[in-house]
Amino acid sequence: MLKVIDTHAHLDELENLESALNNAKESGVVAIVAVGSNHQSNLKISEISQNHEGLVYPALGLHPWELGNLDSSGINLTLKFIEEKISQIVAIGEIGLDYDKRVIKVAPKELQKETLKGLLSLARRYAKPITIHSRYAWKDTFELVKEAGIEKAVFHWFTGVPSVLKDILETGYLISATPAAEYHEEHRRAIKETPPDKLLLETDCPVMYGRENKYRSQPADIIRSLKAVAALKGIDESVIARQTANTAIKFFGLNQSM
Ligand SMILES: [Zn+2]
Repeated sequence: MLKVIDTHAHLDELENLESALNNAKESGVVAIVAVGSNHQSNLKISEISQNHEGLVYPALGLHPWELGNLDSSGINLTLKFIEEKISQIVAIGEIGLDYDKRVIKVAPKELQKETLKGLLSLARRYAKPITIHSRYAWKDTFELVKEAGIEKAVFHWFTGVPSVLKDILETGYLISATPAAEYHEEHRRAIKETPPDKLLLETDCPVMYGRENKYRSQPADIIRSLKAVAALKGIDESVIARQTANTAIKFFGLNQSM
């Protein structure tokens, strides 16, 4: 069985966490980076990772989708908690920008950018990797991350334009592939253009995937990400599994050996 690492999972949102984690282990998943979206979610992620030490590694963050529900004291509380936990987490995330019309309506661009800057300065101060959401905001996100002096960033489920992908890769940042690599054109193109050593695998579970046959994802679906990437690259699955896992171990500083 191939050993794989799911580098972006919303474990706090899974309906049956224990069975999902068992399925994951049975599918060869040796580590999961669990990402937080808001304060409540960060609390849950901290707890889940303590209960599953050695398998689940916590990343705490503040997702741009959450900003519409928060005032400035809510944002400050979230940042403060992340800082308190900083020595226990492997990354800051999920953070980023989202310029989808429905998101901007409740969380204007300026608010999103100011919040992201605060999170990036934390990451910079404590030399933490970041896991980045950048839907329809690829260029602004990249520029803020670079200007903040961040050394390690993964642009998760990247579907952006080739010019920004080029900047990302030239700066030494990574992108990650979800099960949408089976069918989503922009995501497939980005994976094709990215060298295998700049790629991570993830599920972003419990996101719904599929075109005709939709399904709710869990960490075990990382195998779909793996197979799709291997097929797109024309490289053996075992090679992609090993390479992406080693990149993840180095990037997040995971206590794993392959
Ligand atoms: Zn996510």
